[in-house]
Amino acid sequence: VVDPAGAFQGFRGTATDITRELEAERRAQFLSRHDALTSLPNRNMLAERLDETIAQVARRREMAAVLCVDLDRFKDVNDTLGHGAGDALIRQVAERLEACLRETDTLARVGGDEFVVIQTAVQDVAAVELLARRILSVVEMPFDIGVERVLVTASIGIAMLPGDGAISGRLLQNADIALDRAKSEGRSTFRFFERDMDARLQARKALERDLRLAIVRQELELFYQPKIDLKKGRVSGVEALVRWNHPERGMVSPADFIGVAEETGLIVELGAWVLRRACTDIRGHRDIELAVNLSPVQLKRGGIAEMVADIIAETGFDPDRLELEITESVMIEGAEAAIAELRHVKDMGARIAMDDFGTGYSSLSYLNRFPFDKIKIDRSFVMDLGKRGNGAAIVKAVVGIGESLGMTICAEGVETIEQRRFLEQAGCHEAQGYYFAKPMPLAQLTGFLAEPTTVLAPA
Ligand code: C2E
Ligand code: MG
Ligand code: MG
Repeated sequence: VVDPAGAFQGFRGTATDITRELEAERRAQFLSRHDALTSLPNRNMLAERLDETIAQVARRREMAAVLCVDLDRFKDVNDTLGHGAGDALIRQVAERLEACLRETDTLARVGGDEFVVIQTAVQDVAAVELLARRILSVVEMPFDIGVERVLVTASIGIAMLPGDGAISGRLLQNADIALDRAKSEGRSTFRFFERDMDARLQARKALERDLRLAIVRQELELFYQPKIDLKKGRVSGVEALVRWNHPERGMVSPADFIGVAEETGLIVELGAWVLRRACTDIRGHRDIELAVNLSPVQLKRGGIAEMVADIIAETGFDPDRLELEITESVMIEGAEAAIAELRHVKDMGARIAMDDFGTGYSSLSYLNRFPFDKIKIDRSFVMDLGKRGNGAAIVKAVVGIGESLGMTICAEGVETIEQRRFLEQAGCHEAQGYYFAKPMPLAQLTGFLAEPTTVLAPA
């Protein structure tokens, strides 16, 4: 400041406190690289750290591991206890995971319930396994969220460095593939990435793509396997078994694609197609029953009763001749709704059969709770007949159960005359298997029904 004469008077300054701006900027910087909920590194920072790790592994010729950690059924916690509880759980999980790691490791949160760990300076694979086990066990300890005690588990997929990817994106992708595998193998477990996992995943994706088109392109076909009334020595009904006639793959067995259809939800459409086709095909064969397999996934999704009612109305099939086969795995979850739907189906006149009896966890308790009309004894017990196993005793016991509960007993997978004789003597009502007839196309079935073979008559 100068006076009118031009002489220097001193300085005047203005000061602004920009602490808050700086802080805001720092916070913005922080948030661009961190997760707001847990303050852990986010995907951006994880990518940087991964690049550093990749460079370091190459430079120092050491190993590192990328672990994708995902909580199992986190959605259930969110849905039942609310998002606040979900957030609290995530924060606590983050703390526990952090406590498992060393200073030089990185823990990032990359999604709702997804964390990624970079384990550096790894001596051997055993060290990675050890960390994975520790992570699984700390997550399994109960969490106290407000007044609730919450139990969760985690699944882990692991990619190793060097080897499982030279760029960060690839590494994460491969760890994710391994995570998928861990999840599908029962959760609460970890899996290392293997090269053919990727190949298998690609093959599965291709199968899924093709299956979507199969219905439209009319590549699906039904085979029918006769079921024999052992007393009368005649065909009592047929079971519809789906086949996929793929232009390049040839005939694909349901064992190879029903699982894919179930995982992708395609089973709903496929199941409706099978029922509609079968009712149309068998409608004219007035003196036999029609059995159709229902997938557990269809039952879990609901809408079975409506589907059956619609298709019966549409095709004019007599519901008294319809039987639905279900395996017991169906009923493990959400049994009440499934039971109600099955009762509905029974009210229409159809019957329910328990398929593959004896192969699941709690066949007997299901017999008690579900309105079954028939038990199909699994092939494995029939195979045992005449051998040293307990097949014979089990078959007799199941026939006894059927008698006292008023259920029909059908034996699956009968391949020899000896098995057939035993079943007849044991009082088994019905049998199905290669001994009598293999599954066959409709045209062949028509011939088979017109000219019953000699094997049908009582042995
Ligand atoms: P499942 O319902 O227990 O069907 C019996 C399976 O045993 C059929 O295999 C049949 O071909 C086979 N089989 C019959 N007799 C014998 C025998 O004497 N010896 C031997 N070794 N096998 C015999 P397939 O057709 O490969 O079907 C396998 C499974 O796929 C079925 O088991 C069923 O659970 C499922 N499936 C088939 N079609 C459908 C469908 O349309 N929908 C649903 N959801 N599942 C289906
Ligand atoms: Mg069946
Ligand atoms: Mg079966």
